[in-house]
Amino acid sequence: MLVKELSRLIGAEHVLEAPPGSPYNSDLARRRGLHGHADAVALPGSAQEVAQVLAWCYEHDVPLTPRGGGTGLTGGAVPTAGGVVCSLERLRAVRELEPALWRMLPEAGVSTRDVQRLARENGLMFAPDPGASEQSQIGGNVATNAGGPHTLKYGVTGAWVAGVEVVLAPGELVEIGGWAGKDVAGYDLKSLLIGSEGTLGVITAVRLRLLPRPESALASVLFFASAKEGCDAVMQVFAAGVMPSALDFVDGETLELATRSFPGEVPADARFALIAEVDGSAEQARTARTELLESVAAGLLSVAEPEPEALWRWRDGLNPLVTGTLGGKVAEDVVFPVEHLAEGLRRFHRIARENGLRSCAWGHAGDGNVHANVMVDPESERDTLAAEAVGERLMDEVVELGGSISGEHGLGSLKAGRLASQWPARTLQLHEMVKRAFDPKGLLNPGKKLAR
Ligand SMILES: Cc1cc2nc3c(=O)[nH]c(=O)nc-3n(C[C@H](O)[C@H](O)[C@H](O)COP(=O)(O)OP(=O)(O)OC[C@H]3O[C@@H](n4cnc5c(N)ncnc54)[C@H](O)[C@@H]3O)c2cc1C
Repeated sequence: MLVKELSRLIGAEHVLEAPPGSPYNSDLARRRGLHGHADAVALPGSAQEVAQVLAWCYEHDVPLTPRGGGTGLTGGAVPTAGGVVCSLERLRAVRELEPALWRMLPEAGVSTRDVQRLARENGLMFAPDPGASEQSQIGGNVATNAGGPHTLKYGVTGAWVAGVEVVLAPGELVEIGGWAGKDVAGYDLKSLLIGSEGTLGVITAVRLRLLPRPESALASVLFFASAKEGCDAVMQVFAAGVMPSALDFVDGETLELATRSFPGEVPADARFALIAEVDGSAEQARTARTELLESVAAGLLSVAEPEPEALWRWRDGLNPLVTGTLGGKVAEDVVFPVEHLAEGLRRFHRIARENGLRSCAWGHAGDGNVHANVMVDPESERDTLAAEAVGERLMDEVVELGGSISGEHGLGSLKAGRLASQWPARTLQLHEMVKRAFDPKGLLNPGKKLAR
């Protein structure tokens, strides 16, 4: 009945069944055993069709889960309550591209990689650089407010969104924001939708601001004898007034595993590395690199300057390398205030040890954003339970140190309901009121973000 009704709206060839094993029943949280079951998958071909699908769901009390590229790591796109998965994959047009005005208006289903490529081909840059860019969609990036290494200087996706076209309950297509350079007339509804993980509306197109591409980017790897010295160096960089375009870290446990594949020399006593990138004109980048190296000289063991492509390939290879160690890993995405990064890492490793698991971490040091990994044998129930216990305790430590339970991947399904541990009761109540105002029937991506 569901498939038949949706077929009437958008054509039978654009409505799918989702038997067990269908990719539409899961995202990358399937690595943590999370699967849902959609009663139907709708592939609308226009924003108007998205509005028709949501209107039908709203009228018939059917849950709707928006889906982008399905690269989410917290189960945000998993239809845990059944109903309709609304995939944006056919909304792939770039409606406007105005290089001289530094802006672009892609539909939600355009891949992040294509947005970046189009900007580059026009001498510009779309600054956010989340990891799974070939498969993730710009709508998904906005819905999760995705970040990446260059967030430190350039901000998260939301910093580049001038407006969104969105389908709101009970099925209305609405424009929020626009190309005006400034707009303080209303409440900031655009920012409510950014990072809302499909719980407030379905984004169908995004007004993006772009930047002229910096002439030069110089990357260096700085090795330290301890996490403490490496994290102190981050603050020394800031104190010196240098703004790197990226300041990532790789901890000692990860270095141990990845020394052989590093494109250069790793000192034998290195227990922490910072990947520092500076950009600007060729002259600005050179000066910034000199200043950055001077600011951290006291604790530095050595500096490597591999070819940038090889360096970032090595960085991207950490994930599969660590996964391969025991066959699986469980990763938590958390943020510590930068001054507590070393202490946060110390506590994480202690908790993992106490639970009998090997651990390692990397992430964006300048933001205090940590990808905290424990290695598991995926066949071992003991390991799976221990990994969950590590995650639980880590969240408590994060909150105690004044951090955030998510810096990049959102709460989705896996961390749904956890906001209460981080935010005071009154602000949580306001979150719930916002949700009700946008989605009075609770049909938009139920069970995600706020709900348990
Ligand atoms: C290898 C790898 C590396 C990654 N690196 C990063 C990283 O560096 N930084 C980072 O932030 N994340 C990273 N991620 C996580 C993920 O890629 C991002 O969260 C990404 O933004 C998700 O986009 P997507 O299109 O795949 O969305 P999906 O996974 O399909 O959906 C994610 C959430 O957004 C909602 N959603 C999707 N599209 C829409 C829409 N059009 N309207 C409303 N809601 C929508 C879904 O309902 C869901 O709640 C990584 C993931 C992997 C697998």
